[in-house]
Amino acid sequence: LWITLEGGDGSGKSTQAALLETWLAGRGRTVLRTREPGGSDVGVAIREIVLHHRGDIDPRAEALLYAADRAHHVATVVKPALARGEVVVQDRYLDSSVAYQGAGRVLDGTEIRNLSLWATGSALPDLTILLDLDEGAARGRLDTSRTRYDRLEAEKADFHARVRSAFLGLARAEPDRFLVVDASGEIDAIAEAIRARVETALDA
Ligand code: C5P
Repeated sequence: LWITLEGGDGSGKSTQAALLETWLAGRGRTVLRTREPGGSDVGVAIREIVLHHRGDIDPRAEALLYAADRAHHVATVVKPALARGEVVVQDRYLDSSVAYQGAGRVLDGTEIRNLSLWATGSALPDLTILLDLDEGAARGRLDTSRTRYDRLEAEKADFHARVRSAFLGLARAEPDRFLVVDASGEIDAIAEAIRARVETALDA
């Protein structure tokens, strides 16, 4: 079973991934918890490049680096784990690229998706959990000390609004793959909603 978690920065993906891993392990499952970018040896180096050059890298170059990270990650980490029968719990996958490199950096979302499909031999997760959170709430979680709201902040808010609406559009287009959870709720309630859906997937 391959589960990916998606959502904006500050939506609680890592917290929920950790809780899900613990719950699955308690049910006797072997879990591989991983992430993109940076879930493989090569990916760690790519993560450093994309995060270090965030904002000053050509959007197409950025998209290709994320796709390269994804190709190597799926081939050397995710597919082998799935072949061993493990449950893969993954923080971000191709939906993040459609949202960030596509809607965020204003590239064509279909092209970005096709690039990722090419990179991975069309590998798609069984279940994708979208932790949906509005910009204001995410900002509050990420930086409670910030008081200034200047032009740069407004641009960032616009970027994150585009990313969020792209994620929601992806979820609407593939309702069977996606579970959309309101990430402004209590951590335990969110975890419970995720577990209920994962349980169904495990039994399928
Ligand atoms: O999820 P994580 O915090 O590891 O992501 C690191 C950063 O990379 C985040 O700020 C996220 O917005 C960005 N990112 C991106 N495009 C992706 C994946 C992540 O811009 N496809």
